[in-house]
Amino acid sequence: MLLLKDEQATLDAGRQLGALLRQGDKLALSGTLGAGKTTFARGILEGLGYGEEVPSPTFAIVQQYELPETRIPVAHVDLYRIDDPDEIFELGLDDILDVGAMIVEWPDRMPDSFWRDALRIELEITGDDNRRLTWTAGS
Ligand code: ADP
Ligand code: MG
Repeated sequence: MLLLKDEQATLDAGRQLGALLRQGDKLALSGTLGAGKTTFARGILEGLGYGEEVPSPTFAIVQQYELPETRIPVAHVDLYRIDDPDEIFELGLDDILDVGAMIVEWPDRMPDSFWRDALRIELEITGDDNRRLTWTAGS
């Protein structure tokens, strides 16, 4: 468990994890709206050497990042707007995992079996700027 006292702490936590990401890694980011999932994902991308702006993928659903330094592409996914599970398979997430890693907001839109070997991270709002981060590793 980690207590994140402000947005910068969440970015820093993400950055540390980003430095460790490998091809095939699946990251499930849970938490209510505004919990800091996208902020944490920004930190991860920074940790992987990405220096540009990271928009929320709420509308694009899948945002792909080419990261020459680490040589693995990373997909930042937001399944919030998905209501039909069949739509998920059209996103080609398995193909992404063959070559890169994946960070997924609203992972509960996917069947639980998909997350069996994932790193699950949950963010909870514990105050105006305070967040609690907990994690479970599937493998
Ligand atoms: P989500 O993707 O979970 O909906 P966002 O990362 O888009 O959440 O938004 C989180 C919001 O909460 C931002 O406006 C951010 O500035 C604010 N915030 C305040 N404290 C924190 C914190 N400790 N970690 C992350 N975000 C925080
Ligand atoms: Mg978000």
